[in-house]
Amino acid sequence: MTEGPPSVPPPGLPGPYGPPPYPPPGPYAPPPAPGRRSRRGLWIGLGAAVLALSLCAVGSLVGLRSYLDERNDASAAALDDTYNPIRQEKIEALLAAHTRALTERDEKAFVAPFDPTAKGLAAEQTSLYRNLSKLPLADVRFKYLTKGDFRPVGGGHEVDVTLAFVHRFDGFDVGPVEEWYRWTIVQADKDAPLKVTRAGGLPEERKRNAVTHYPAPWDKWRNIHVERTPHTVLLVDESLRTEAQRYAPIAEQAAVDDLAAWQAGGVSAPAPSGFVISLVKGRAELGSLYRTTKETPTESGVAIPVPPEGVLNSEEKGPVVGATRVVIDVRDAYHFTRGTRERQLNLFRHEIGHALVGNLTARAPGSYVLGERETWVVEGFAEYLGHGRKPWLTSERTADSRAVIREIGQPRSLPGSLTWDQEGRVGYHYWLGHSAIGYLVERYGEQKMFQLVAEHYRSRKIGEVTRDILGVSYEDFEKAWLAYLKAKVR
Ligand SMILES: [Zn+2]
Repeated sequence: MTEGPPSVPPPGLPGPYGPPPYPPPGPYAPPPAPGRRSRRGLWIGLGAAVLALSLCAVGSLVGLRSYLDERNDASAAALDDTYNPIRQEKIEALLAAHTRALTERDEKAFVAPFDPTAKGLAAEQTSLYRNLSKLPLADVRFKYLTKGDFRPVGGGHEVDVTLAFVHRFDGFDVGPVEEWYRWTIVQADKDAPLKVTRAGGLPEERKRNAVTHYPAPWDKWRNIHVERTPHTVLLVDESLRTEAQRYAPIAEQAAVDDLAAWQAGGVSAPAPSGFVISLVKGRAELGSLYRTTKETPTESGVAIPVPPEGVLNSEEKGPVVGATRVVIDVRDAYHFTRGTRERQLNLFRHEIGHALVGNLTARAPGSYVLGERETWVVEGFAEYLGHGRKPWLTSERTADSRAVIREIGQPRSLPGSLTWDQEGRVGYHYWLGHSAIGYLVERYGEQKMFQLVAEHYRSRKIGEVTRDILGVSYEDFEKAWLAYLKAKVR
């Protein structure tokens, strides 16, 4: 189609916006129902990723901690060089020097630890240094997390070290976040300086999707362009400079609209003051920034949560999302190549909407598992903001959704998280979610709707929040919405 809203999506094609990499991470997530199609698996897998927790997830979160504790005990017993040929203090000193090199803007010192004979490594790290130097970063630190087993090499040893690149986009992020790198560090002999012979992200599992937050734009592209507005920073490959300049005012407008909505919503929680957004060329690239997808994604934009600093050692009540990065495919036909400014604004507002509320994400009470979240709440809320808080019936999805109702009859319930991705129904489900949020606003007022969404993100079950905030059971809420929908859409 050239113009107008997307027609009823052909099988397998979702609406313009894909789900964000929620629901909760894999080890935490309910197993996909048997026989369900792979796309669901995709999102659960991605969710798995939500945090770099993918590497560690529950068991290993605890495991890693006790591992670190053991190390500490052991160090008290003064491990000898046989068991600990590369001292942790030496690794930490290397990381401290690396941090200083970045903050004191010393390119030579930043690149110095990387083995010049390792193919492409020094050039890659030079690009990384130059990219990072363009960013408005604060709280920058390279932090030791853990290491693997020592391996003998030549007359010395090597070891794989996992480190966190702690950083915060100044004026944007609520607090510092972590990106994890894995370096191979070699010590040629007992007194030799450390050399880094390999550097990259955590090894990904090839058979599934993973959000490891690597590669970030500064890792992926040799030369990034940074386009800044008061409430957004667009990070793009140099080849997309023109697009970044063209779409920056729209991204800014979207951020301003969403922040105004959040303020009006009255939720008392620190919200990001700005948003970090990347533009990419096509779906393959959309699936390769901050994450690795097994199948090419079908959505036009995505919001990817990044863990806060110290997530590995945080308590059960500690935050699990530090910031959310937005990625938008500017080769998308519906919004961009054949789209309109209004559609682009809707897409930016939708994804920034996920980023705004994402910081409230919490674990289920008394557990490391993330709280369950209804997809209709997550996507309906993003649609509501995406649509600029205008009446939901004016959504471009309405015509197609009416056609679905004519075909299959009135819905009998809110779309469940497990059937959300049903072929040919995704756009319709977004619209139903949007209608339920619209109903909440009409019937109870916008602030109650914001409260309900916020409390649900904070991991309180949907039935609990309808009872506490609306004073009705979930069943009664659903029944009232069904009657409302029926009256609106005949
Ligand atoms: Zn969404």
